[in-house]
Amino acid sequence: MKTTKIKRIIYGIFTVTAVTALLGLSKNAGGTVHAAPEKMRVGFQHIAGYQERTEDGSPRGYGYDYLSEIAKYTGWKYEFVDASWDACLTMLANGELDLVTCASFNEERREIYEYSPYQMGLSHTILTVRPDNDQYFYNDFQNFGGMKVGLIKGNAENSAVDTLYEEYNVSLETVMYSTEAEAKRALAAGDVDALITSSLRLLENEKLVGAIDSRPIYTITGKGNTELMQTFGKAQEQMLLANPYFEADLYQKYLANNIGYKVALSREEADYIKENKTIRVAVSSDTEPLYYFDGQTYKGMIVDSLQAMAEEVGLEVEYVVTASDKESIEALKAGTVDVVPDFYADYVYEEQNHVLMSKPYLEMQYIEISSKTALPKKEETIVAACPGCFLNDLYIKKHYSDESIIYYQSEKECVEAVRNKKADVTFVNQYTARLLLGEDRNLRLNGNIIYDAGHGIAIAVSEDNPTLYRIMNKAITNQNPETFSQIVDNYSSGTEKVSLQRYVYDNLFQVVLIGFAVFCLIIIVLLYIEWQRRKYEKHLYELAYKDTLTGLGNVKQFEDLASKRWLEYRGQTVCLISMDISHFTTINETYGRAVGDQVICYAGQMLSDLFSKWGIVARNEVDNFFLLGVCDSEERLNVIIKDIKEKIGTFRYEGDNGFSEDINITYNFGIVREKCTGSTSIKKLIDRAQMARKSAKKTSSHVRIFNDEMEKQLLREKIIEDNMESALANGEFAVYYQPKYCMTDNRIIGAEALVRWNSKEYGFMRPDEFIPIFENNGFIVELDFYIMEKVYEMLRLRLDQGKKTVRVSINQSRMHFAQKNYIERLNALREKYQIPDELIELELTESIFADIHDIRTVVEQLKENRYYLSMDDFGSGYSSLNMIKEIPLDTLKIDKSFLEDDVTDSDRYQKVVKKVVELAKDLNMEIICEGVEKPTQAEFLQSVGCIYAQGFLYARPMPEKDFSKLLG
Ligand code: C2E
Ligand code: CA
Ligand code: CA
Repeated sequence: MKTTKIKRIIYGIFTVTAVTALLGLSKNAGGTVHAAPEKMRVGFQHIAGYQERTEDGSPRGYGYDYLSEIAKYTGWKYEFVDASWDACLTMLANGELDLVTCASFNEERREIYEYSPYQMGLSHTILTVRPDNDQYFYNDFQNFGGMKVGLIKGNAENSAVDTLYEEYNVSLETVMYSTEAEAKRALAAGDVDALITSSLRLLENEKLVGAIDSRPIYTITGKGNTELMQTFGKAQEQMLLANPYFEADLYQKYLANNIGYKVALSREEADYIKENKTIRVAVSSDTEPLYYFDGQTYKGMIVDSLQAMAEEVGLEVEYVVTASDKESIEALKAGTVDVVPDFYADYVYEEQNHVLMSKPYLEMQYIEISSKTALPKKEETIVAACPGCFLNDLYIKKHYSDESIIYYQSEKECVEAVRNKKADVTFVNQYTARLLLGEDRNLRLNGNIIYDAGHGIAIAVSEDNPTLYRIMNKAITNQNPETFSQIVDNYSSGTEKVSLQRYVYDNLFQVVLIGFAVFCLIIIVLLYIEWQRRKYEKHLYELAYKDTLTGLGNVKQFEDLASKRWLEYRGQTVCLISMDISHFTTINETYGRAVGDQVICYAGQMLSDLFSKWGIVARNEVDNFFLLGVCDSEERLNVIIKDIKEKIGTFRYEGDNGFSEDINITYNFGIVREKCTGSTSIKKLIDRAQMARKSAKKTSSHVRIFNDEMEKQLLREKIIEDNMESALANGEFAVYYQPKYCMTDNRIIGAEALVRWNSKEYGFMRPDEFIPIFENNGFIVELDFYIMEKVYEMLRLRLDQGKKTVRVSINQSRMHFAQKNYIERLNALREKYQIPDELIELELTESIFADIHDIRTVVEQLKENRYYLSMDDFGSGYSSLNMIKEIPLDTLKIDKSFLEDDVTDSDRYQKVVKKVVELAKDLNMEIICEGVEKPTQAEFLQSVGCIYAQGFLYARPMPEKDFSKLLG
């Protein structure tokens, strides 16, 4: 809502009077007046808003604009001379100035100056105080006595002081200032209580407490300049004919936004508010967004506007619902409500309804709505309307016959009727229309705004209640000019949600275009994601199926491909070859791991070159490769083996500085040949080929074909695996103890725990038969903890009985070291049985150290947790010396293989053993020898300083019962 419109209406009223007069005068005036261009000297008295200079010194304001417009018709140029009002008048009289504006009329002046034929505006004499001054009521002049008032020298308004004295018998104390600015400063500083000035100035931080009189203002010139004033008058005629609202526009431009401009309440008004705290307001049918009930409170533009007004003057609002505008007016007359908030601002209508109508605060336009689908040609158009609403009386009834009007309860229902084709057309206010049209794209605006039905919205109160009428007027005037437009904005922005739908409908082409672009973008993004996904899948596939070192497939891929080829191979004899490099560890040791890797790559590459056409090639682990293909005869198999031996038998090692060497590679071949049937399983073939390869290592030809004996062995392994869990649960595993002796005095210094399996079904089994299988499938971990628990039970019992105990060593397989909670589990068990540290020893086989890189940290943790550690089978493998040098162990256990030959016969062996004993002693390690069977061996060991022994010579592994007896 623009305040412009309201102001225009108000100022239009007095301007129209002037224009009517002008029309009579200008009959003979004819075309534009063009006097010769002259430089007019204009007195420029400074009055904020009326006439002032901007920061850069250029003139602006009501008076300046007025003269500028005049110049368009006269061709004048101006020179503005800054001076006080008084000085301006003097200079004009002396002929030093040609024009001065804003002069009010009086007979005295008329003697000295020539007046313009028409006024240039209307000035009210106003009395203003500081906005926080609540001492004075509006126009309560009789009580203004003693007020200290500021005046501006030479102002016609100053005579108001006399008027007040004459009319109300009040005398005011006056202080004269030479400029408006000075006077304003004095008011702000509290030097004076009030100012008496012209309303043609900007009221900033002032409150209006009185309007004394009004007078027109004119432009004046020196006496005798009649011609000049005639020219001026003609220009005024032309100007007002071109724009009758010119003065109102100027007022609007410079003075309407009087921020903080407030009108004080009169004493009577203030009393009214005190007595009637609450005003009852009629709200008729639900017309979102004007007013509506959201289930809890009343809302809407009118409700918010009323709220702002009520707050301004300190009133409360109570709503009374009525069925129509008509009913609202009836309620007002009956005295059941005090206010009708949405009255059609029209003086005729005001009179007809016997109400007092405030100045309008909102503006209402109506919009014609018809269905978007073409209307059927009908004789008569059916219009949907709300009964008793202002629009009916004002517009619809004038334009449509009674028969063609159908009544609905609300504007919403009217629109609904058009949508359902029950009516052809309806009229809805612009705010509601925005809301409803936004929701429905089948409706359209027809003929847009109905201009002859537009009107202002005012507050109506009963004719008998002029006080409330004045209060409401002030409540509207005193609003910040932004208030009402802000309220309208608040409700309009809420419709944006729905107008998206409408936007789409109205801008179909653009929307389709944007939609298509978005669609393309989405496709591109999806394609990119898919590409990334495939890349990732490929990566995963490679991780899962590819051997990174050689680029060959791994065992998983091998199994996959093989099962896919099964159909193709069905009915033919296939062979699976598992091969590895004999003494690969030696190559690694001699040339280093990097060269070891090169050898593996070379072998892999060559195998792939030679056999990928024939069948499937894969690398299983380290130096172990698989080949699978059709091989119907033994000759064919021999050719394959021969090819490999010959073509991949030598690797040329290129070292630094041009050094090169041929490394001979020999392979172990484990082969399984079988007719491929539906039941052939690739896993089974692999197991068989692996078994054959392991046994091939022990043959001179290094080639072994899987046979019945191996088949039996495999079967047995399977039985072991199938039965191990139940055997553990059924207590079929037993601990045997083999004592360790001090050879010098035959004293038992410890024992080794060794497992035995006494199977109900398969009889007594030695560890060699099942331990390797358990080490493969991981069951060894459970078994070892079981053994440990049995040992602790035995020790605990003996400790409790106060019997003799010795340290018992328990074998730990390499599998343990890969367990995350290994040490926690060990500690928990030790804790459970409260076994002293010195009674426990862990035997770690040498192979552990060869296998696991990170062995050192585990060993250190074990030491930190106070476990005695011994290196088992020392000397059976390789790298042993390196190991003991780096890893802190307590005991070195010389492997029984050292004693296999008669040590006393071999000088070399003796020397080696002697050195090992010395080394262990140097490193502060205990040393013991296992597998001592003969007295000669015992003698020899003692002679080189190894006094501890474990072996059949002293005792065989024995059941717990026997061991207990032995210990005593
Ligand atoms: P090991 O740790 O080297 O155990 C010593 C093996 O040498 C035992 O064989 C023992 O009976 C045997 N032995 C002892 N004195 C002599 C002797 O004078 N002459 C000969 N020829 N042999 C002797 P056993 O009990 O058959 O165990 C074989 C292997 O099984 C053990 O070798 C060990 O590596 C493993 N083992 C046994 N029990 C367990 C166990 O509870 N856990 C784990 N992880 N491995 C075990
Ligand atoms: Ca052992
Ligand atoms: Ca051993």
